[in-house]
Amino acid sequence: MVEFRCDVPYPVEYKSGRQRKGRHEELQLCAQAVCLSEMFGVTVDRGAIYWHGSRERREVPFTDSLRLEVEHVAAAVHEMMAGSTIPPPVNDKRCRDCSLRESCLPNVVAAKGRSRKAVLELFEVMTP
Ligand code: SF4
Repeated sequence: MVEFRCDVPYPVEYKSGRQRKGRHEELQLCAQAVCLSEMFGVTVDRGAIYWHGSRERREVPFTDSLRLEVEHVAAAVHEMMAGSTIPPPVNDKRCRDCSLRESCLPNVVAAKGRSRKAVLELFEVMTP
């Protein structure tokens, strides 16, 4: 969601669960702010994350270091896309509430990887 404060966009990212460890939610929010800055031609210097599971809302200032990290992640994603390869799904507890779960199918893809590995190892000759 985007709120407006004195005509300046203020992104608010809604999460279904509770607050988690890590910077990934702040990075996502800051990336949204970068897009809003470019769309509206204004500086977006803060936003907020709301966790529905715990009914908490926290304001996130977009510091220089957070913006720099967003730049690095964006460059890494561009590089990955140029190489036409994507990393395998993490297939862990992060997937449980992920909105991409139905498209990503982490269980199926991870199982495919295990099957492929089993086929590749099927005729491996073991030496004593
Ligand atoms: S469902 Fe896919 S995109 Fe979502 S956390 Fe799991 S591996 Fe990542």
